[in-house]
Amino acid sequence: MALRTRFAPSPTGFLHIGGARTALFCHLHARAHGGTTVLRIEDTDRQRSSQAAVDAILEGMRWMGLAPDEGPFFQSDSYQRHLAEAHRLLAEGRAYRCTCSVEDLDAMREEQRQKGLKPRYDGRCRHRDPGQSSDSPSVIRFKTPQSGEVSWHDLIQGDIRFANDELDDLVLVRSDNSPTYNLAVVVDDHDMNITLVLRGEDHISNTPRQIHLLEALGYQRPHYAHMPLLHGSDGAKLSKRHGAVSVLQYRENGFLPAAVNNYLARLGWSHGDQEFFTMEELERLFDVTRLGRSATIFNQEKLLWLNGQHIRTAKPGDLAAELSWHLNRMGLPDPGPERLTVLVPHFQERSKTMVEMAEKCHFLLVDDLPSYDTAAIDHHCTPDLLAPMSKLCDHLQSLDAASWQAGHLETIFKTVLADHGLKMGKLAQPVRIALTGTTVSPGIYETLLLLGRDKSLSRLQLGLKKFFNRTPEGMENPGQ
Ligand code: GLU
Repeated sequence: MALRTRFAPSPTGFLHIGGARTALFCHLHARAHGGTTVLRIEDTDRQRSSQAAVDAILEGMRWMGLAPDEGPFFQSDSYQRHLAEAHRLLAEGRAYRCTCSVEDLDAMREEQRQKGLKPRYDGRCRHRDPGQSSDSPSVIRFKTPQSGEVSWHDLIQGDIRFANDELDDLVLVRSDNSPTYNLAVVVDDHDMNITLVLRGEDHISNTPRQIHLLEALGYQRPHYAHMPLLHGSDGAKLSKRHGAVSVLQYRENGFLPAAVNNYLARLGWSHGDQEFFTMEELERLFDVTRLGRSATIFNQEKLLWLNGQHIRTAKPGDLAAELSWHLNRMGLPDPGPERLTVLVPHFQERSKTMVEMAEKCHFLLVDDLPSYDTAAIDHHCTPDLLAPMSKLCDHLQSLDAASWQAGHLETIFKTVLADHGLKMGKLAQPVRIALTGTTVSPGIYETLLLLGRDKSLSRLQLGLKKFFNRTPEGMENPGQ
């Protein structure tokens, strides 16, 4: 049968990095094996589920490029179907009504504890006549086999077995007539023809219960693969303080989806010693059966390094779209995709995050520089540089827009440097500060070309005035 995997998040919060990893592995494994992905929103816990969380999950998956082939389906839509299957088991004598009250169950557990036994439901309603006390509130429980064992070959964890006497009689339908997680999952996985259940290892203890249930219902058993959980660098289970935040927070922090996907895929999976993978490579090579079993450590530093690598090698047009999102978010002017596509290559080598790229190209997007690095002015704009700076401005002024080219700019710089016996670094820094407000920018000719003639000249003239506190004779006085 063709491979079908599902990602089944509960919409009780945003899509955090651990959930995103499950979604990614479902997607990659399906792509690499010609399969189909299904998204099922498990919204049966009405109290804790919210539309905002559904939206955040969909948006997170969309940003990561993990939109499912089918869905989203909402588990609550199949409510009647889940109940009907529980009633079928009831009718077939494979489930029973249990009228034990919360107090009864508490007393039972307390007694077991005192006897040194593991607290569990003891099956006391199993043999009750179904005709009795039908008015009292009841739950429907599954008749779990009481002897023998259940086992499966987990595609990641290997052979797993549970003794049936370890498992108690599972509640299928609560007293408020709502189906429980285990019932809903088993029925949905069957109805959606899921062939591979890939999920976190925190679900391993549900699997023996689900296998018994699906066998009683006459369903085919899917394959199971339980992924090791993520841990922080201190070895503790990944939490907010380690970076288990929303994937959309990673976007806000300037990470590219390709880098996040690459990083998450490499946690526990490998292909030789290759570290850098494009999404296309992952979609071709990934295989859950090659995942390691041990818990994996989430390392922000490595993610940052990979992000820099992905920024460096991405197509400028793709980065322009992501850069535009950041510019809008940061309230910076967005000159549109065409201009951004031209600017991006000048910053790819220098930016580890998209936030950094937005900050670095900021000076090109605004009409007026909002501020200057005053310490840099004090350090680099010494009075002896007034004359060469003024000369440079004069020469540059004589170039028209068509001659504003690297070769001409270079000739002018060389002339001024030679006339004043200066080294490039000495003159380049005041020029750079005047053009960008800082001492960090692409190469000086590159910067002049990117800014264009008019903006470059007006910033240089303003810089002369600001840094050296006078306006050179014969120059018009813009920027006032
Ligand atoms: N809804 C469950 C969760 O978010 C996942 C269920 C499953 O994968 O079987 O943990």
